[in-house]
Amino acid sequence: MFVTSKLPEVKTTIFTIMSALAKKHQAINLSQGFPDFSPHPKLIEAATKAMLSGQNQYAPMQGLMNLREIIAQKTQELYNVYYNPEKEITVTAGATQAIFTAIMAFIRPQDEVIMIEPVYDSYLPAVRLCGGMVKFCQMNPDDFSINWKDMSKLISNKTKAIIINSPHNPTGSTLKEKDLQELQKLVQGTDIVVISDEVYEHIIFDGEPHQSVALYPELAQRSIIVSSFGKTYHTTGWKVGYVLAPENLMVEFQKVHQYNVFSVNIASQAAFAEILKDKDLYLSLGQFYQEKRNYFRNLLQGSRFELKPVSGAYFQLASYQKISEEKDTDFAIYLTEKVGVAPIPLSPFYSKQQDFKLLRFCFAKENETLEKAAAKLMKV
Ligand code: PMP
Ligand code: GLN
Repeated sequence: MFVTSKLPEVKTTIFTIMSALAKKHQAINLSQGFPDFSPHPKLIEAATKAMLSGQNQYAPMQGLMNLREIIAQKTQELYNVYYNPEKEITVTAGATQAIFTAIMAFIRPQDEVIMIEPVYDSYLPAVRLCGGMVKFCQMNPDDFSINWKDMSKLISNKTKAIIINSPHNPTGSTLKEKDLQELQKLVQGTDIVVISDEVYEHIIFDGEPHQSVALYPELAQRSIIVSSFGKTYHTTGWKVGYVLAPENLMVEFQKVHQYNVFSVNIASQAAFAEILKDKDLYLSLGQFYQEKRNYFRNLLQGSRFELKPVSGAYFQLASYQKISEEKDTDFAIYLTEKVGVAPIPLSPFYSKQQDFKLLRFCFAKENETLEKAAAKLMKV
């Protein structure tokens, strides 16, 4: 039988490849982004309690009401915008499903979608599956800032959506107030939908406020905001997140969501509804990861890797320009197999696989893990 691939150029994700390689060579896995420590015991207790008390059947399609209510409250407190839990919030099976569903809901064949490179890997295939066309706006490779003039040149009457992501994976950069203002100017008066991937909203450093699109009325009225409990509560394996959007967008989102997953596992939803009551847990997350960032950077002081600044998310970019001229994918394999530390190379985040000799190390790890990894990296 001849199979015509809908995604002929797509291969297994770099996260899957590098995590498998780390396992095979028993390397310290700083590749795929996930914590190597446990979630808060209260969260596990709440999920267990939910299951034992009979919460084991389908949750409502939009998510448990008490969870949506507390998400609405948190959003209002943080960003001063009220999303109606009845109509403007949906609980999703992680951010990946949220983004995929948003793209499916809005992109038709030939519609153009603008994304910023380097770009998180799941956006592009989703657009291709809808027959959409992708245009890339390149971040400045030195400081990962966005040139909004470049962005404005990409906008046409076919532009249906712009996808942004702050704090940014893989660079650890963040969008500032002036970036959001520029974006606001560009989309004003258009029908462009903004998909704002804010999964690292609470992982932002040095006192910088997170610039949610929710803070900007012109953006908020056209935005699908995506968040992930996996990042906030060290539960990437639970795959739960949520989407905020005004009613007219959410109606379309839910038309797809109800057939894409219908609903999300109920015990975890009950547990998140419980743990969200403790505001300190998410409000202190930035400080928690800032300490990890500083710890890891200090451990690597004096190494031959050149560390890039990190203002959010839990990734440290390092240039190995002074160490090797090898391709980043090859050098990542070398580090995993021969040095015993697995990173993620950056070229898979570029559509043309540009190689800037950069690697991404995840520092969402126990200090002991970071110490062991740094000791190995210092010898390179
Ligand atoms: N967007 C970004 C930028 C991410 O880094 C990730 C996961 N690392 C996701 C989306 C997907 O999140 P989830 O695991 O909740 O699907
Ligand atoms: N988002 C995680 C990362 O950047 C990986 C998630 C996945 O493996 N798809 O490492």
